[in-house]
Amino acid sequence: MSPSPLMPVEEAIARLLAMADTCRLHDSEQVPLSTARQRVLASDLVAALDLPPWSNSAMDGYALNVADWNGQPLPVSQRILAGQAPETLLPGTCARIFTGAPLPEGADSVEMQENVRVLDDGRIDFQQPVRVAQNVRAQGQENRAGQVLLRAGKRLGPSELAVAAAQGCTHVHVVRQPRIALLSTGDELVEPGMPLGPGCIYNSNRTLLSHWLGALGCAVIDAGSLPDQPEQTRLKLEQLQQDADLILTTGGVSAGEADCLGQVLRQSSEPVLWKLSIKPGKPLTVGRFGTVPVIGLPGNPTSALVTFGLLARPFLLRLQGVEAVTPLSFSISAGFAWPRAGTRREYLRARLDEGHAVLYPNQSSGVLLGASWADGLVEIPEGCTLAMGDAVRFIPFSELF
Ligand code: AMP
Ligand code: MG
Repeated sequence: MSPSPLMPVEEAIARLLAMADTCRLHDSEQVPLSTARQRVLASDLVAALDLPPWSNSAMDGYALNVADWNGQPLPVSQRILAGQAPETLLPGTCARIFTGAPLPEGADSVEMQENVRVLDDGRIDFQQPVRVAQNVRAQGQENRAGQVLLRAGKRLGPSELAVAAAQGCTHVHVVRQPRIALLSTGDELVEPGMPLGPGCIYNSNRTLLSHWLGALGCAVIDAGSLPDQPEQTRLKLEQLQQDADLILTTGGVSAGEADCLGQVLRQSSEPVLWKLSIKPGKPLTVGRFGTVPVIGLPGNPTSALVTFGLLARPFLLRLQGVEAVTPLSFSISAGFAWPRAGTRREYLRARLDEGHAVLYPNQSSGVLLGASWADGLVEIPEGCTLAMGDAVRFIPFSELF
């Protein structure tokens, strides 16, 4: 019997998104702008104000009414600073005005101060023709009150939060945080700060994933570490499913005897994903325990990083209602040759150097340092060989993290 074919990455992502759609979070809350970074809007953000709220000057200069001006120097009838409320412009005069100051009623243009001459008697000689609306930021040119500025499902970064602040919002209406139980498995794991016994290693995946989950707007339930012991694993999952929206684990999903997380998961439900056409990360296992989804990442640090970034990240965003979950990527010239085609899609740690993608020398899935050296991942499809200079797809880590 031939081994079952490996599941392509696209299909795995489609299945994960379908699973996320079945458990989308519908509760929402108002949170202050100061803590709303990376959260997802639960309803459209509608403008309360025109922006700018009134026409104002884009320059330090002189405001005038173009139709009222006969080309002769004009006396200055008022001085308007940002934050002041001006008087109506007297006919036959101009107003001294500064950047951001409201344009007075009656004025329709601003000449910048560099283009005028101030005469000895204080009048202003406009030395070149002046156009209506020049250097004027018209009321509502950015948006009108009532306009939808940001759609529900938008992730909130610094610029989105600034858009809300510009409308005078102190809070935004966001989807509640997904609660993610984070569990490490492996007899060999020791927490940083504890003495390292023989045969042991420090748990690095927990640090990687707890920070990354936070950056995706999630609340982390730290579920600690488990030994490779099936009964304890089952009991732990039973306990975690009470309050988690997702159980995220590392380790124990390969086909070995000690890989009990995968065994428990496959016994409890039909796996949603297993045996992927991806390198590193083939053992990634996704299923449900009771009704709660479980994503079992492989334990190797780089396998955990690649599978979390490419597969768990879109799941977590969709759970919160984000539609656009695909990371931006671009095509770049390979600064390396790839003479032997692989049977799985490979994600290699690479850096950008003078317009080429160059590889970290050690691409072992156990080596974490390459990910911190690299700028992102180069994707090499199944069955593909490359010569130096061929085009490859590059996914920057800035898109994933
Ligand atoms: P596993 O997926 O359990 O077979 O683990 C694969 C490799 O990843 C083994 O060498 C483990 O020691 C290592 N590993 C598993 N979990 C972690 C972790 N939390 N942090 C660092 N390395 C880990
Ligand atoms: Mg293990």
